[in-house]
Amino acid sequence: MNPPPLVVMKFGGSSVASPDRMKNVARRIVAKKHEGNRCVVVVSAMGDTTDDLIDLSKKINPDPTEREMDLLMSAGEQISSALLAMALQAEGEKAAAFFAPQLGIRTDSVHTKARIVDIDGSRLQKEVGNGSIAVCAGFQGLDSENDITTLGRGGSDTTAVALAVALRADVCEIYTDVDGIYTSDPRIVPDARKIDRIYFDEMLELASLGAKVMMNRSIEVAKKYNVPLHVRSSLNNNSGSMIVPEEENPMMERPAVRAVAVDKDQARITATDLPDKPGVAAKIFGSLADANINVDMIVQSSSEQSAGKNDISFTVGSTDLKKAVDRLKAVAVELGGGHVVSGDDVAKVSIVGVGMRSHAGVAARMFQALAEAGINIEMISTSEIKVSCIIDRKQADEAMRRIHAVFEMGQPAFVAAR
Ligand code: ADP
Ligand code: ASP
Ligand code: MG
Repeated sequence: MNPPPLVVMKFGGSSVASPDRMKNVARRIVAKKHEGNRCVVVVSAMGDTTDDLIDLSKKINPDPTEREMDLLMSAGEQISSALLAMALQAEGEKAAAFFAPQLGIRTDSVHTKARIVDIDGSRLQKEVGNGSIAVCAGFQGLDSENDITTLGRGGSDTTAVALAVALRADVCEIYTDVDGIYTSDPRIVPDARKIDRIYFDEMLELASLGAKVMMNRSIEVAKKYNVPLHVRSSLNNNSGSMIVPEEENPMMERPAVRAVAVDKDQARITATDLPDKPGVAAKIFGSLADANINVDMIVQSSSEQSAGKNDISFTVGSTDLKKAVDRLKAVAVELGGGHVVSGDDVAKVSIVGVGMRSHAGVAARMFQALAEAGINIEMISTSEIKVSCIIDRKQADEAMRRIHAVFEMGQPAFVAAR
């Protein structure tokens, strides 16, 4: 006889933010189990716990080591997993909570953004095989030194997908505080519409470009192992959004632009008056890569001030700004010239859709929408399925609304770039 289906259910921080919400989540899990499923649950820290822990650390030491940050931040999930197991027990269910050292989630040692390298799912298999509900602390792992690591903000999504792969789960459900994936952040764009089916590649871009509803790494893993994801609300029973592989012959009309996203955690750095010779960019970006700093947009231009010199501007995540500036200043000294200026006042607004491959004029329409709103574009980057612009952070929400409107994304069956 086949064992009952195995379901991985992930609940985000807002879904377990209070004891009442936690009890509500417990009842949902119990209902799922009583439908005849084996349940592995992944939980995030309650509400704003992770932010609060980070703020607390800054009051003690403005520049703590990342190893200690990981130990601190992982505490949030340790608390919520234990409490959720208790809530399940209060419902009369057999439940057990686990944190990273018990879960066999092995990662590399890149503290604060570690990658999962292996999962030994045997303990969890045994647990659910015995009829218990396993509640796992999301966001954390253990490196080869047995030090606690974390997977990057929003990392519980990745824990959930990785566990679904390791346990060969039948379904992976992501429960959050909105009904699914929308054409834009529904908290910023009131007429954003829920998308019933979205492709891995579109969701990967959206997540990488700032739509926090799913962490981008989790989509990478889901795509690689072909795990369809169901993103839905923990507060109601509405069906959510399915994230699926791209169909070969999609029945539905594909709009050019699927969604618009904003990333306000962006910072811009400019190095001016660099020597104009081979190897400069390699040295700068090699040094940043060595420090595990992801660089996004890069623009190089001849220096306005001095002939034979170059300026290079690029963007990094705000949390990497200080580290990147320190590195760049050191490299500029080695290169024998250059000044470094930086600003933490930019945002990146992006449109995404696989339909862009076959529609012309999409980027121009986005630029026009920004122009009409008086929003200056500082940098642009494009790929086959996205266009991103760096703009003033203060204008980011307005930019999202304008772009959403110009592509008529709020309309039921919008077909953009007509
Ligand atoms: P969780 O705590 O469940 O992990 P997050 O706060 O990480 O939830 O993600 C959910 C939030 O993502 C929503 O409340 C919403 O404001 C935001 N969001 C941004 N872009 C989108 C989008 N395109 N669709 C849905 N939600 C989005
Ligand atoms: N608690 C972590 C965070 O706030 C992980 C997560 O919520 O997925 O980033
Ligand atoms: Mg999240």
